[in-house]
Amino acid sequence: MDHALLHKASFWLFLFSIDRDLADSARQKACPCGGRLHCANYPRKPRGGGDALPEQYGYRLSFCCDRDDCRKRVTPPSVRFLGRKVYLGAVVVLVAAMRQGTTPRRVRELSKLFGADRRTIARWQTFWRERFPQTRFWKVARALLVPAVEVAVLPRALVEAFLGDGDPCPGWGRLLRFLSPITVVGGLDSKVFR
Ligand SMILES: [Zn+2]
Repeated sequence: MDHALLHKASFWLFLFSIDRDLADSARQKACPCGGRLHCANYPRKPRGGGDALPEQYGYRLSFCCDRDDCRKRVTPPSVRFLGRKVYLGAVVVLVAAMRQGTTPRRVRELSKLFGADRRTIARWQTFWRERFPQTRFWKVARALLVPAVEVAVLPRALVEAFLGDGDPCPGWGRLLRFLSPITVVGGLDSKVFR
């Protein structure tokens, strides 16, 4: 499990290109009222990408209906931003995963690499172990994973399942795309039925 990729601008640009695709498909669907969606990006100041972060990371792609009586907001899923979390999604996954396993990385080392303090890292571990397994998303999506992933080894098991031994860049793309339904409003809801 290597972190070198997360310090490269090419990796972050690759994820941005996936976000652009996700946004294009959302925009093509138009607003349920029939109005057209126009660009209304959210400013963001994500952490964890260091100096490698391209300028496109200053905003999250989002749209707004152009009809005055509607103005509905549509924010597509993202492989970059994990909902409202300040740190980039890949960082929240990787740092928590690196804390697990037979030779867990020390908090001090991870703090130095990604700039997250001890409390933040502990919160991410709790998120993956306790909150994420309760989401509607996970209750459905875990059935798609073969072999089955144990909750106790989240998120490390996800990283291993999607990255394997191949080129880590497309592996990250697949993993973050898999997780992208939790990045929209209501995506972390735990109720199975509305
Ligand atoms: Zn509308």
